[in-house]
Amino acid sequence: MTDLSNSRTRDTDSLLHPYANAMALKENGVQMISRGEGIRVFDDTGKPYIEAMAGLWCCGLGFNNAELIEAANEQMAKLPYYHIFSGRSHETALELAEKIKALAPGNMARVLYQSSGSEANDTQIKLAWYYNNARGKPQKKKLLSRMKGYHGVTIASASLTGLPYNHRDFDLPLDIVTHLRTPHHWREAEAGESELEFSARLARELEETILAEDPETIAAFIAEPVIGAGGVIVPPEGYFEAVMPVLEKYDILMIADEVITGFGRTGEWFGSQSFGYVPNSISMAKQLTAGFAPLSAVAIREDMASAIEENTGKIGSFGHGFTYGGHPVSCAVGIRTLEIYERDDIPGHVKRVSKRFAAHLDRLADHPLVGQARHAGLMGALELSPDGSTRMFDRPMLTGAKVAAELTARGVICRAIGDSLAFCPPMIITEAEVDELFDPVEDALNAAH
Ligand code: PLP
Repeated sequence: MTDLSNSRTRDTDSLLHPYANAMALKENGVQMISRGEGIRVFDDTGKPYIEAMAGLWCCGLGFNNAELIEAANEQMAKLPYYHIFSGRSHETALELAEKIKALAPGNMARVLYQSSGSEANDTQIKLAWYYNNARGKPQKKKLLSRMKGYHGVTIASASLTGLPYNHRDFDLPLDIVTHLRTPHHWREAEAGESELEFSARLARELEETILAEDPETIAAFIAEPVIGAGGVIVPPEGYFEAVMPVLEKYDILMIADEVITGFGRTGEWFGSQSFGYVPNSISMAKQLTAGFAPLSAVAIREDMASAIEENTGKIGSFGHGFTYGGHPVSCAVGIRTLEIYERDDIPGHVKRVSKRFAAHLDRLADHPLVGQARHAGLMGALELSPDGSTRMFDRPMLTGAKVAAELTARGVICRAIGDSLAFCPPMIITEAEVDELFDPVEDALNAAH
């Protein structure tokens, strides 16, 4: 028999865990997850949990989809690895790129592959720079992002990220990045300021920043349609309508980081469609393979693609690409994933079931420990507050972690982000399962109160 307590404590002798306090883990041990089924995972004692975060916002089709397993197995047997470097290609990379182009908004013309969201956003930066060099604007290099935006952990993508714990003691961010105000009305709006007025102010602040930095030095603005890992922050009304014309005025690229919001999560195929704007390029990952294999992609429009391609003609080679970018097994899983989303109308399902999801969150907003409920499609959060209204700003109570632990004990895995509890369940969740997910939340809030 496996000695469970032994494997839980052995773990920290060999692993340094992301996003964890290593000293606390050494003392308390880790939770071992052993298998998955539908929207649930099971720990090493066999206890089931509703995975209300779809793992890390990625397992849109749950944890044991037979069709995805079959797609991976078939590809593994046929061609387990090949690359797309130096004039070689393979059918799965091509077929998936064609599917991505057909589904993505904005007439995307070319697709580049990587393995992670961080690499996708790193690639975005390099593309913006390369494009600006190619079109004779070499001074246009600086980047804009938002506080609480999450764009990854490589040196460049962590610099775009607007969260202190991704910077602290890593000597980041790089000084090429300027972080703008978080578009969070509940926290950041002035007294009496409507969402529309707040959005107009954010657009003014964006323009002021651009002018202060010099528009001729700014390459791109990166934004998630809905901020995910920064606490599920839904943009205020009119936000992208106000921001897009400012970017266009100063010839600044809008990069949509759709690593979470891509492929149905907000009830449309892409989050940018839910919020009515068309970006210059899109980063996608996570739900591209429903989390069954690592794969990310960047899609770019024709104007950028042709400028880059013409430059490679001049200098001889495009010096960018990853060994595992466009991995055949990941691409085969991606193709089958997108086929399932289309066949089962997953964006439509999300739109329908998210009404129930939103109703539960809105009901919980009345709990004395909840300051604000937020939701967009099947992404949501409860922001905790000691008295139901005070905004904790930079003095988090860290009650989020306590409530999340109470919920885990009651069979639901969610994510505490500071004082916000985030929920992002598999997109296949049914209305009855949404009810099951939220059943123990009130109890968990009361226990932590
Ligand atoms: N961008 C967004 C919006 C994300 O949510 C994440 C991860 O959560 C990333 C980028 C980074 O992706 P990865 O962890 O695959 O590098």
